[in-house]
Amino acid sequence: MFNLTRYFSTLSFVLMALAAGLLTLYYRSITNEQLLHHEQNRAEEFTQVFENSLWPHFKPVIDADQSASPDVLRERAATTKLREALGNMMRGTTVLKIKIYSRDGITAFSTDPQQIGENKAGNAGFRSALNDMPRSELTHRNQFDAIEGTLEERDVISTYVPIHNIENGQQHVDGVFEVYQDVTTFVQEADRHLKWVSTGVVAVLAALYLAQFMVVRRAQTILRAQARALEDTNQELDHRVQERTHDLENEISERRRAEQRLDYLAHHDPLTDLPNRLLFKERLLQSLQQVSRHDAQLAVLFIDLDHFKDVNDTLGHSVGDALLTTVTRRLQTCIRPGDTLARLGGDEFICILENIGGPASALEVADQLLELFRQPFFVGDNQLYLSASIGISQAPADGTEVDVLVRKADAAMYQAKAHGRNRSHFYTSTMTTNAQERIQLEGLLREAIASNELSVHFQPKIEVQSGRLLGAEALLRWNSAELGSIPPSRFIPLAEETGFIMELGFWVLCETCRQVAAWDEVGLRVPVVSINLSVKQLERGNLPELLRTIMRETGITPDRIELEITESVIMVMEDAFTMLADLRALGVRLALDDFGTGFSSLSYLKKLPVQTLKIDRAFIIGIGESRSDESIIQAMVDISRSLNLVSVAEGVETAEQFAFLRRLGCEQVQGYLFGKPVPANEFLSRWQAQTAAALPALALTGQG
Ligand code: C2E
Ligand code: MG
Ligand code: MG
Repeated sequence: MFNLTRYFSTLSFVLMALAAGLLTLYYRSITNEQLLHHEQNRAEEFTQVFENSLWPHFKPVIDADQSASPDVLRERAATTKLREALGNMMRGTTVLKIKIYSRDGITAFSTDPQQIGENKAGNAGFRSALNDMPRSELTHRNQFDAIEGTLEERDVISTYVPIHNIENGQQHVDGVFEVYQDVTTFVQEADRHLKWVSTGVVAVLAALYLAQFMVVRRAQTILRAQARALEDTNQELDHRVQERTHDLENEISERRRAEQRLDYLAHHDPLTDLPNRLLFKERLLQSLQQVSRHDAQLAVLFIDLDHFKDVNDTLGHSVGDALLTTVTRRLQTCIRPGDTLARLGGDEFICILENIGGPASALEVADQLLELFRQPFFVGDNQLYLSASIGISQAPADGTEVDVLVRKADAAMYQAKAHGRNRSHFYTSTMTTNAQERIQLEGLLREAIASNELSVHFQPKIEVQSGRLLGAEALLRWNSAELGSIPPSRFIPLAEETGFIMELGFWVLCETCRQVAAWDEVGLRVPVVSINLSVKQLERGNLPELLRTIMRETGITPDRIELEITESVIMVMEDAFTMLADLRALGVRLALDDFGTGFSSLSYLKKLPVQTLKIDRAFIIGIGESRSDESIIQAMVDISRSLNLVSVAEGVETAEQFAFLRRLGCEQVQGYLFGKPVPANEFLSRWQAQTAAALPALALTGQG
């Protein structure tokens, strides 16, 4: 730190010493000047006295030839008795010696005769006096030859005074008088004063110095304390800044981590940690840019798990989620490092295969992926078998835009499903045509009710033993003005997908009940009419309410209505049992349609409130052809019997099939052998006339 005291004390000491020295010198010079002035006056007065009293006597001596030798001059002066006269004058005064110079500077007289004859023309004092300006000078002499003899250590003032003479009224300088005055006592006195004054000045300055020194030292102490405090504060501040910087760094890195986390979450599927749709699209966009830049090829694989919903519905979402994670891990084993596997949602995965050689490489990967599903998945205690359907689109062959490629892979995946699942399918241009057709079909279907293009056909159900008409199945028909007759297998799934099935199903229910009532009126009594229900209709939950309204309006009693549901209902509907129990509570009958084609579970069957089992046509075809089909039919009939259910065989076309079924003890049959589905009026004319026993001759004569 800056040492204020040291600098101040040094500087101030120097300045004060300088001031003291200057003051002393100044005082001394003033004293000397005053002394000189005073002594000069006295010398002038003395000279005046001399001029007045002695000069007229001695003037001739001075005026005489001065060029003579000093001895002559001395001789001449001695004769004038001037020395004695002046000695008298000087007595009692401080005058020690007197000299008289002629105008040309020759010492014409001196109280010290030795000096007579000396030339002082060059002396400054002499010249000044010659110009009528007296002049004094103070000198210290170790030895001085005075009139009274030699003196030791004297302070002497010598004063040159002009000697005037008035001639013809004009005053002019005749010669110069030099007076030596002894001022030793004055000088000693002045020196003593000077000493006191100097001591006083030094004392005052020292006191001042001390006082200032104290103030400065105090200031220095305060400054030091403040500097220390400042330093402490600075350190404290530094410390705080460091701490805050550290905190800020932490905050920043925390925020960066949070941002990274957010970014990660925004781009990843939380369940499987796979890239989500957003990130997938970004990656595909990048890959497509590479494709166009490097003239490469890539493939997009749309992977959809088959019947995954069943797992979710039967085993719960937590098992479903765990299965998805397990599937993901297995799929990842097949993905090359540069490729991307993403989850689009639900059971849909999508994969980008970069830089493929061609369709063969894409197919190879797809096959490897499908191969992964051959082994069961273990989730908790469950051992689950799963398959997948894969749709493949390629760039640039099928397009170079993200959405186009995804849509085409999706369409191809649907095709793979349509072809029986557990397989892959490449996109083909016809798929787009199919998709366009579906859109057209959907539009037309929505208008079909209003434009009277829909109708309900009826197919008879016959009692095997008696051949009596026991009922009819209502089957929906669509005869489009634009597209002609369209089978239910094409428009029912479409209506289910679009939700239009609700309206459609309601229309069928109304139409059928209305028809049954109309037949009743004209004398055709169809004991029970079977109506097919879609899962979606059951899911809605207001079905019992609707049915009650329809029955009230048409006057049809519930025991004359049988609702056909497929096995999948139980698989996909969480509260299927409650829903079916509600329907059963209405008094309507329930039939399990297409029995044997789904995941039939005997334990479920026991609990279901159904009264009828409909054995699917797929097994009936096998009669006489496949032993196993026959055994299955046998088993199904036996089960029906043991569970006290009515067994109905669907799609009976031949007498052989009929005979076989009769032998097994199947209770009812339905099929072309007894009548194809026909419009209501046709059904009426066919069956009104017939008696209860009116079975077709072919059937009755079959090998029963
Ligand atoms: P399903 O309920 O199993 O109906 C029986 C199907 O077998 C009918 O086909 C019927 O015409 C056909 N069939 C009956 N006997 C024979 C036969 O001897 N030989 C052959 N080859 N076929 C026979 P359809 O009318 O084409 O109906 C197909 C499916 O569409 C129905 O299967 C049913 O699941 C569904 N469906 C029909 N109408 C409706 C409806 O109104 N609502 C709902 N949800 N589904 C319906
Ligand atoms: Mg049916
Ligand atoms: Mg069926």
